[in-house]
Amino acid sequence: MQVVSHEILDTEAIRRDFPVLHQKVSGRDLVYFDNAATTQKPKAVIDALTGYYEGYNANIHRGIHHLAEKATGAFEATRIAIQRFLNAAHVEEIIFTYGTTDGINLVAQTYGRKFLGEGDEIIISTMEHHSNIVPWQMLCEERGCVLKVIPVDDNGDLILEEYEKLLTDRTRFVSVVYVSNALGTINPVKTIIDKAHAVGAKVLIDGAQATSHLDIDVQALDPDFFVFSAHKLYGPTGMGALYGKREVLEAMPPWRGGGEMIKEVTFEKTTYNDLPYKFEAGTPNIADVIATQYALEYVDTLGKKNIAAHENQLLAYATDALSSIDGLRLVGTAKEKISVVSFVMDGIHHQDIGVILDQQGIAVRTGHHCTQPLMRRFGIAGTTRASFAVYNTTEEIDRLVQGLHRVKKMML
Ligand code: PLP
Repeated sequence: MQVVSHEILDTEAIRRDFPVLHQKVSGRDLVYFDNAATTQKPKAVIDALTGYYEGYNANIHRGIHHLAEKATGAFEATRIAIQRFLNAAHVEEIIFTYGTTDGINLVAQTYGRKFLGEGDEIIISTMEHHSNIVPWQMLCEERGCVLKVIPVDDNGDLILEEYEKLLTDRTRFVSVVYVSNALGTINPVKTIIDKAHAVGAKVLIDGAQATSHLDIDVQALDPDFFVFSAHKLYGPTGMGALYGKREVLEAMPPWRGGGEMIKEVTFEKTTYNDLPYKFEAGTPNIADVIATQYALEYVDTLGKKNIAAHENQLLAYATDALSSIDGLRLVGTAKEKISVVSFVMDGIHHQDIGVILDQQGIAVRTGHHCTQPLMRRFGIAGTTRASFAVYNTTEEIDRLVQGLHRVKKMML
């Protein structure tokens, strides 16, 4: 990996770190603009996966042999890397999960089932991913809690005055997304967290789209829980983490039962392990956990500020370029955005746009982006979404614009 000097990234060098980018699709150089769904993986991450399987594959923690100790050391090193990445106060506040969805379900099923009951109010927002809606709905159904929803305005910003009105002395939990995957909006989560705490509610922040673009400091932000997925951060799929404040995690019952999460098992009674293992039953994704530290290192070496500067440039360039296409309307025009452009085109279905772009080697996402209530709010069935990462270029955005002109020619 090579980084040119301060705040300027050498995109060509970065692109060489990502083997998958160097291929033709439909006879054209691949343009990968589906980064909000999952980012591509640098060679360092891929090498870490094969390195584990080829060099020290073993189960972790209880083994006393050389390979088991090596695997355990590498596995736990990722926990420390994530602690640093999030600036968590304690390493045992980092629980490995299968991803954001898994982390939210863990909190709903443990904290929720123990501490939330009849008439207690849970606040989410209109722009939540389904993974931050459905687990709370399931909990409400079971426990009789009430789900309340912060509305969004026409730009795709949360309406904070409405949020304040939703807060009552029955508000027990607030669970909101840091950055919208469908619109790109960056929410003012510090304000949201502080206001929730003022009424005594706990807060979960869905950081799935935030971690690759923004610096995260959970001690400064002060959420009770923060969840993210490694695969949206240049890391492997099926791996993520839940950060929780130590005292809150300690008060929560375990979720999945099995090996690793216990201290002692008898048929009469089982006692549970300490944090973080209390929440990590069974053999985890060892290779993926290990490889995640290489993804974090990759991001750290490039520098989040440099990444953000590059992506903001791409966002500005794309916003300008797409706005010049007749009949194209951007959905999500908040002032504070990450590098996601979602749009609709007059008279052309988003699926047709996706297929025709794919025929030109351009990968975008189309549909509701797992945010059906948000799409309903905007009166649309779905959008076409191009989301940019550190290896994307303005030349690729030019290809997208040319591609969209071709879509119009073919469809209208
Ligand atoms: N939340 C947001 C904002 C997302 O963008 C996503 C994935 O697209 C998720 C949650 C779910 O993440 P995962 O599928 O990795 O659990």
